[in-house]
Order: sequence, then structure tokens, then C-alpha cells
Amino acid sequence: MRIAIDGPAAAGKTTLARSLAEALGYLFVPTGAMYRAAALARQRQIPLESMEISVEAGGRVSLCGEDVTDVLSRPDLDEMSSRMAVDSRIRRRLVEIQRRIAANGSVVMEGRDIGTVVLPDAELKIFLWATEEERARRRHEDQGGEFAEILAGIRRRDERDSTRPDSPLREASDAVVVDTTGKRPAEVLTAVLELAEERRARLAR
Ligand code: C5P
Repeated sequence: MRIAIDGPAAAGKTTLARSLAEALGYLFVPTGAMYRAAALARQRQIPLESMEISVEAGGRVSLCGEDVTDVLSRPDLDEMSSRMAVDSRIRRRLVEIQRRIAANGSVVMEGRDIGTVVLPDAELKIFLWATEEERARRRHEDQGGEFAEILAGIRRRDERDSTRPDSPLREASDAVVVDTTGKRPAEVLTAVLELAEERRARLAR
């Protein structure tokens, strides 16, 4: 079974996808982290032809064989990864890797274009949403810094992600929209797990 989780910046996609994958015993694939690794590659002046990005168990991401997971949440990579994500050559490379991973077994894959482009036939598609203010507040609680700046950064990325010509952020027509505003991560997990179990039972029939 392939579960696609898409949505705007800081909606809680990574938290949900990770815990869902753990609960179901599926591979967790954080594609946002893959775009962040591509931004890191650019910072390190690694040419696109030699950029090797892979995802291991637990959603750990490697760049040219080095586990870079722990640096990928750096705030400077927020903006840079969203700029890189406009580039179709980078998207093509990463989408190919993402599809190859999903062909090997059950996955929970999170990102912006999973249900629309990467895995249009995914068995379950979730579009995770929360108000801008709530998303900025959560980021602020996690990372500190200036609230207004965080909110502006989220708005800028959402705008760029939704208006780029290649694979813009939008909900798939068959996605279930989950509004997480005012909800705790555990509540969201329970609701989505229920949907996943329901789909799994239907597939087994
Ligand atoms: O989800 P996260 O904030 O880590 O993603 C970083 C950036 O990567 C996003 O702002 C977006 O521009 C890009 N991205 C994308 N397609 C995906 C996942 C992420 O364009 N599937």
C-alpha cells in the first residue's frame, strides 16, 4: 500500500508520516528532506550529475553516501530548497528515486506532489492542512526565532510551491483533506490510521 501525504509548509506532514509509517511498519519517505538535501548539494557545489540522494530506514537521508539528516531542518535550507524545487531537472531526478523506492514495498511518502505526480495511483491520499497562523506558531515553538519572519517565510514558500509550473502544490481530486488546526499530533494520527486500516481492509477483500 502506498500512502501519499501532501500539504503546505509546516502542516505537520513529517510528524504524521513518520508515526504512521512506524505504526504500519511501512517505509517513511520524507521527500521534503530530499529537496533539502538537493539544496545542501548546491551549497556544497556538488554538480547535479554527481548528486546522489538516498532514503534509508527511519527516513534518514544521505547525500553522496553521507547521512545528512540532522542538518536538513536548518532554517536556511527552507528557502533554498523551495527555490531549488522549481527546477524541473532536479524534480525529475528526485521523482525517479521516489518512484523506485515505492516500487519496492509499502510506503508513507510526504511532500507536495506525491498524490498528484509522484504516485497518482496511491491507495490513500491525504492533504494535510492547518491555518497559516497555526503552522507558523508550531514552527516558532519548535525552532524559536521571530514569529513574523517565520510566518512570512511560510507564506513565501506556499506561494512559490503553488504557482510553479512544474508539479505545483495542490490537492489531488481523490485526496482526503485533514484539517489539523487545533488538533494534537496524536489525534491526527488516530484519524489517519483509521483511514489507512479501512483502505487496507478494502484492498484485502
Ligand atoms: O517539506 P519541506 O518544507 O521540508 O520541503 C522543503 C521544500 O521542498 C518545500 O518548500 C518545497 O518547495 C519542496 N518540495 C517539493 N516537492 C516535494 C517536497 C518538497 O517541491 N514533494
